Amino acid sequence: MPSVSLNALLIKMFDFKDADRIYVFLTADYGKISAIGKSVRKPKSKKTGILQILNFVDISINKGKTLNLIQEVKLIKSIKNEKLIKNFSLIHYITEIINKTTNENEESLEYFSYLKNFISFFNETDFSSIYYQIIFSYQILEILGWGFSFKSCLKCENLIKEEINFIDSISNGLICPKCNNDKYRKLPIEGIKILKLFQKMNFNILKLLNEPKKEIVEILKEEIDNSISYHLDIKLKSLKFSNLKCN
Ligand SMILES: [Zn+2]
Repeated sequence: MPSVSLNALLIKMFDFKDADRIYVFLTADYGKISAIGKSVRKPKSKKTGILQILNFVDISINKGKTLNLIQEVKLIKSIKNEKLIKNFSLIHYITEIINKTTNENEESLEYFSYLKNFISFFNETDFSSIYYQIIFSYQILEILGWGFSFKSCLKCENLIKEEINFIDSISNGLICPKCNNDKYRKLPIEGIKILKLFQKMNFNILKLLNEPKKEIVEILKEEIDNSISYHLDIKLKSLKFSNLKCN
């Protein structure tokens, strides 16, 4: 049986038979890969502690006909424990999005390296769950080709000015005040600036900035959630998370 070593992110797991568990990983070269961990639910298993959701690991896998078998696993990077506890729903949301937007045998280099950066940023900063969620969701839209355009009005194509504009989260862009009808929601200049920052994918800058005002975060959250649901055509179980309030 051929054996492969991979750098992988654990995105899902479920119990299998009496003592085993099936794990789903995201890898840069092969996209999603499932593999079975034999006897990992026995108390003596050393792998269990390492195989936690959103951990980056080095795994060696024996490729089987029907199931891949995990041979060895080494921890590379994990989310800090206190962050896991504090952001439980967010973690669920993130893994659900990754699961629904990646495939087997599909190279995912950009996605994988983005997740590495995002998780480092998440570990090293202390923002609210909602703020992390809008950054993540917006940037996933960007990676999947659904990023917003901020340069000109979606209707009249005039350049967007530094003023209050309106946001269209289906066509993913801005509507100028002249073209606005009641359909669209007001987006203050600050909101546009933040989205542009998210678009740059530069966590070194995001790390240094304060979290935006609650009103802005709430507008962005609703619009980005709307865009995610529409463009990814998914009904996320974890979107009940949307009901969480900013604090
Ligand atoms: Zn216009």
